[in-house]
Amino acid sequence: MKKFLSLTLVLSFALLATQSAAQMVSVTDDVTFTSEGGASEGVQVVFGGRRQGRSGPQRTTHCNDDDIFGIKQVNYPHELKNHALVRFNARKHHDITFPVPAGFSQETVSTLSSSTTQEQDDEPMETMLQHLDVWSRSRASDEVLAHFTASQFERFERAMYLKGIPEGGDDWQVIERDLQRVADEDAESIYRASLLVLAEQEISAWKNKDKNKDKKKKRVDFDTWFKNYHPHDEIKDFYLQIADDYPDLVTYIPSIGQTVEGRDIFAIRLTAKEHDGSVKEKPQIWWQGLQHAREWAGGSTVQFLTHHLTSHYGKNDNITAILRDTEFVIVPIMNIDGYDYTWNNNRLWRKNRRQNSFGAYGVDLNRNWDDHFGQGGSSGFPWSETYHGPSAASEPEVQALQNFFSEQKRIVGAIDFHCYSQLVLRPQGWTTQLSPHEKELKFVGDRIASIIKDVHGKKYISEPSVALYKTTGAASDWFYGDKATAANNGHHVYSYTIELRPSSTNPGGRSGFILPPEEIIPLGEEIAQAMEFFVDYVVKNPLKN
Ligand SMILES: [Zn+2]
Repeated sequence: MKKFLSLTLVLSFALLATQSAAQMVSVTDDVTFTSEGGASEGVQVVFGGRRQGRSGPQRTTHCNDDDIFGIKQVNYPHELKNHALVRFNARKHHDITFPVPAGFSQETVSTLSSSTTQEQDDEPMETMLQHLDVWSRSRASDEVLAHFTASQFERFERAMYLKGIPEGGDDWQVIERDLQRVADEDAESIYRASLLVLAEQEISAWKNKDKNKDKKKKRVDFDTWFKNYHPHDEIKDFYLQIADDYPDLVTYIPSIGQTVEGRDIFAIRLTAKEHDGSVKEKPQIWWQGLQHAREWAGGSTVQFLTHHLTSHYGKNDNITAILRDTEFVIVPIMNIDGYDYTWNNNRLWRKNRRQNSFGAYGVDLNRNWDDHFGQGGSSGFPWSETYHGPSAASEPEVQALQNFFSEQKRIVGAIDFHCYSQLVLRPQGWTTQLSPHEKELKFVGDRIASIIKDVHGKKYISEPSVALYKTTGAASDWFYGDKATAANNGHHVYSYTIELRPSSTNPGGRSGFILPPEEIIPLGEEIAQAMEFFVDYVVKNPLKN
């Protein structure tokens, strides 16, 4: 990782060096470069070393002010300390039981967990799995990749030790012993990417100082935006800037409802408006991102799609036609509280920030929609990563989106963007029965996957959602289900959950939820191509009832 980073830095500086003779570039143990354009225009950035207050070996760094250049550095507390990422075979070890954690009686666990019927003192494997944060589970081999809290991992290790099963082979394997370290490394790479972007902006501003003299400085620089991930307030600025720049296309809706912690959930309408600023009634496409907080690439992809459409309108015939004939209704950050939490506390937080009973936090929003709620594939245990909440649509985030969707009336296609595993999932998740529109939904899902592959060669699997695992109360089942269909003037919707990069078999790092910033653009490109097909096709061939 370190090698890769320095390579990126050297390459970027080499590129910058060829553009301007006046700047000085030196690459040493730490990386330094200076753009010399007079005191006010100069910038010096020094990379290398860990900053004060970080874990690991302390070294001096030249960027020791949090507000330097206005870049906020992510500095996580230690919620993930000693959390482990473990691969193990659940089938081979299905008979293993795990000691119930201290402070819990089995009675409490039974009351809370919807499917615990065990009378014994220890938890069986299947119950343990319900309480773990399972990242992937192979149907064929039943190999599980799961995130364990420190105490869960202690119990797991003890159970394996008592059974005499040492780590290794296909029994069990620790992929990462301390996820806090992974989160800290990610924070470091986000910070470095921010500094690089800033350096690039400063040099470009200095080079173009005569041209830019009268230009108003924008909130957001679209040229460098997709080189990094951004926190909630910056993403909001991104959409406000898009609305400012493209008033003939974009309407910014400040609030469609509020989160548990009282933040406004904003939305966007995107279509070619009439000359008087009105919008004709057109078929609608629904896109949403960041229902799960840690799935940052879902958010960046929705931003990329929005920018792709607005910046190509009037320049690309296909996109111009799409925006004339279609209205996009976009909710960029569904789970704002959770997303903020991933920037400030725990990079791997998934749920919203509901305060549950027993001191547990969070409802899995994608198990809380009002479609076959609580009928399996979710958990009644408030600590669980798939806790479905007290009742269908109990969460204000889900209520806001269900209501906003229901107000639209002309939706023909809906996509909920998630990470990770490279999957195009079609209805349904709540049953193994194929949906009445299986043929049409499969055709479009398969095409999405094949177009994605044509762009950068990434293989996405197209399959019914239940093939991955059973889920109930999920958004994409709700979009396709009876209640949304009734609200949508009786019209069914082509509904998909797209699980973006990386693949589950080759996540390429210690956590599939942490996609390097360098992949934001190629990921956006492959999804944009697939979405151009999707929108065109479903608008021309809406599902018949
Ligand atoms: Zn997700």
